[in-house]
Amino acid sequence: MTAIRPLVAGNWKMNGLKSALGEAQALYESLAAADPLPMDVMLCPPSTLLMAMASALNDTELLVGAQDCHTEPSGAHTGDISAEMLADAGARAVIVGHSERRAEHGESDALVSAKAVAAYRAGLTAIVCIGETESERKQGRTLDRVASQLQGSVPEHATAASTVIAYEPVWAIGTGLTPTPVDIAEVHGFIRERLSSIVGSAGAAQMRLLYGGSVKPDNAAELMAVTNVNGALVGGASLKADDLFAIVSVYRALTA
Ligand code: PGA
Repeated sequence: MTAIRPLVAGNWKMNGLKSALGEAQALYESLAAADPLPMDVMLCPPSTLLMAMASALNDTELLVGAQDCHTEPSGAHTGDISAEMLADAGARAVIVGHSERRAEHGESDALVSAKAVAAYRAGLTAIVCIGETESERKQGRTLDRVASQLQGSVPEHATAASTVIAYEPVWAIGTGLTPTPVDIAEVHGFIRERLSSIVGSAGAAQMRLLYGGSVKPDNAAELMAVTNVNGALVGGASLKADDLFAIVSVYRALTA
């Protein structure tokens, strides 16, 4: 079995004006100046910056992704953006089902799954987000919640090449709180096992499982070393090139 290639993806959320493109350039320059790492690095800017960032980084190893897509390829959906449009703008992947979209836009598992299918249709990798709320964790329902989100949000024909799962406990996002490495290992092990009944054991064994929620330069080494953690989805700390580069760089020690 081949080793899983890690992915560190930065989710800029609703942050970044044109002037922030300099951070993408700075990250690219840091990556280019360092020894290459056996991993993928991606930035997911707001849609307004996607095309400019993708053309600035064209043919570099720094990938560009998007944060959401509509299920349809085109049509009368004011304000929405299709997966085909994101691909056309230079995106290679799209985050679907982020907890902020689930909470603020009422996105259901079925909708998230349909968005992942739209991503495949457009040739994009789908980064499917799942994760329990604080009250679900307190009630001991974390694994139940993760199981039902996986079942509902991951299309049956998802493959390790087309799909990345991001486990992001809602209570850890933007709070500075993180689960312990033991807790993350438990959930990630459970996710991998559950995935095999959805996508088959070969796909489940190779699928990248990212951890997300308050990943920072000072905790990344500990979090990324956890079994079955194949990278990170990084929010706040991805806005600064130096911070994201520091997070990526923990893989130098991990893979040495
Ligand atoms: P955070 O966000 O790193 O700011 O906690 C993570 C995410 O929502 O993807």
